[in-house]
Amino acid sequence: MPASASPFDLSGRVALVTGGGRGIGLAIAQGLARAGAAIAVAEIDPARGQSAAATLQSAGHRAAFAPTDVTDPGSLEAAFDLAARDLGDVDILVNNAGISQRTPAEDYSREDLRRMVALNLDGVFFGMQILARRCIAARRPGAIVNLASFAGVVADPNSAPYAATKGAVVQLTRTCAVEWAPHGIRVNAIGPGYIRTEMTSPALGEPDTYAKILERTPLGRVGEPDDLAGAAVFLASDASRYVTGHVLMVDGGWTAI
Ligand code: NDP
Repeated sequence: MPASASPFDLSGRVALVTGGGRGIGLAIAQGLARAGAAIAVAEIDPARGQSAAATLQSAGHRAAFAPTDVTDPGSLEAAFDLAARDLGDVDILVNNAGISQRTPAEDYSREDLRRMVALNLDGVFFGMQILARRCIAARRPGAIVNLASFAGVVADPNSAPYAATKGAVVQLTRTCAVEWAPHGIRVNAIGPGYIRTEMTSPALGEPDTYAKILERTPLGRVGEPDDLAGAAVFLASDASRYVTGHVLMVDGGWTAI
């Protein structure tokens, strides 16, 4: 790296962002692109994925849409192939796609549990494996940024299976960070607090719940998707070159209490 270059510079890197079509994924994709990375938007909804890639391109960034269902390893492999063909080999994986569901634990159906695990846990692990296998085979370094949650480290009532998958993401992050460190692959996670997206709009739309969230959050506001961009750039870039197995909470102080 030239002495004058910023350690946050991602020029020449390729990042694949799952669920990058909207919300936190899109904001992280935009942040990584502003730092210089080319972006593969790995999104299940074609219209949304194409529109996100077009938005990035019209802002002057290199970007491509890769149709992806993260629950299908073959679909994820195809997304990595498409990114490699159109942008270059993927250096950075942001495992962002995820779902949430607020249901009392005793009422949770088996089907909903399977769906939650397939997307929030299996989908994250498949992506991590694909990036690691490719980087190890090519003797290239890599950076993985997983989206965990405050719910992965403290209790979040009525979200037991969601919280369990996010706790699992925390442990995947730590364990694979140690396994893959000898290969130069760093694995870290971001733990968001309440962020204003379509996922949280039902909860934030309830005045009582919204007031409780504000009261419980030391910084006194709900997060915006762009609040995650800086953490993602840090963990994806050489600025965090000695950081691995870490969960960076971006939660307005929620888990500091
Ligand atoms: P959104 O629901 O707004 O966006 C998720 C995106 O992922 C959607 O575009 C969705 O598409 C896509 N997606 C869903 N399933 C798949 C799939 N199988 N393959 C590929 N893409 C898929 O979520 P957020 O932006 O709010 O959340 C992003 C991540 O951050 C999640 O992992 C979430 O758990 C985590 N997080 C969010 C918090 C928040 O407050 N918002 C708090 C803590 C963590 P579609 O809608 O078509 O299914």
